[in-house]
Amino acid sequence: MSAHPRIGIVGAGGRMGRMLIQAVHQAGYPLAAAVVRSGSSLIGTDAGELVGIGRLGLTVVDDLTKVIANCDVIIDFSTPEATAQYLNICQAANVAIVIGTTGFSEPQKQQMQQTAQHIPVVYAANYSVGVNVSIKLLQLAAQAFGDSVDVEIVEAHHRHKVDAPSGTALMMGEAVAERLGRDLKEVAVYGREGHTGPRDRQTIGFETIRGGDIVGEHTVMFIGDGERVEISHKASNRMNFAAGAVRAAAWVVGKPAQQYDMQDVLGLEQL
Ligand code: NAD
Repeated sequence: MSAHPRIGIVGAGGRMGRMLIQAVHQAGYPLAAAVVRSGSSLIGTDAGELVGIGRLGLTVVDDLTKVIANCDVIIDFSTPEATAQYLNICQAANVAIVIGTTGFSEPQKQQMQQTAQHIPVVYAANYSVGVNVSIKLLQLAAQAFGDSVDVEIVEAHHRHKVDAPSGTALMMGEAVAERLGRDLKEVAVYGREGHTGPRDRQTIGFETIRGGDIVGEHTVMFIGDGERVEISHKASNRMNFAAGAVRAAAWVVGKPAQQYDMQDVLGLEQL
């Protein structure tokens, strides 16, 4: 773990990008780059003034290649297409990357794995400590219940979210499916409509709610005959994700080239 990682942020103009500028500042680390999409009206502004924390003396730019030499690690919360470009730029510059973007296709996930053979990559669909603790609890519940219950996952997010179900809901589904010896791709059921027939116990159901300003809520239900366990996580602001990503950035600098997740960063894998 680096004591003073020089952190660059890409997608700096977005909801999470702005939070990340504040989180880096709060952690006391030097903000080394703030990169927005080309053509953005934010180019040339001061990164600190952009988020109301006062002048940082760092100008917002649209080209990571020009500023990456100042960075030890990049944090990326943007879009899957932009992340694909930033993976290439980080690999060419031999700089670690922490990825929070969600909604990747299978080829995009493979590109990430290939890049992680050359540089350290942290990828987590959710950087909050609470969600990662919840994953641990889900694994425990799945192991204890086995095939004796039906598993359903309900998630809710704000009206601007573009992918569904959320990356976090899928991560929770993967964690449960893996403990139950199932392949999520084969057993996932996304929403239900019409004459569905009786429920197959092997399936894992996903339901999605979108509306207003909900930051992110996930509930996994283990539903048996006569009892039900629900494991819920509710995020009430985005700082949890931003602070977790900054923690991951400080952790990954100097690590061997490999793909890591937040369970690795928090040391939860060993528990
Ligand atoms: P947002 O739309 O507010 O921000 C995305 C930003 O990326 C926009 O400002 C857009 O202009 C910018 N962008 C697009 N192409 C770019 C490029 N080539 N270079 C630089 N910037 C570019 O969205 P958001 O709510 O901030 O979320 C961003 C992503 O992070 C989403 O995929 C979301 O699901 C994910 N997310 C992950 C976590 C987590 O903990 N992993 C938490 C919250 C959100």
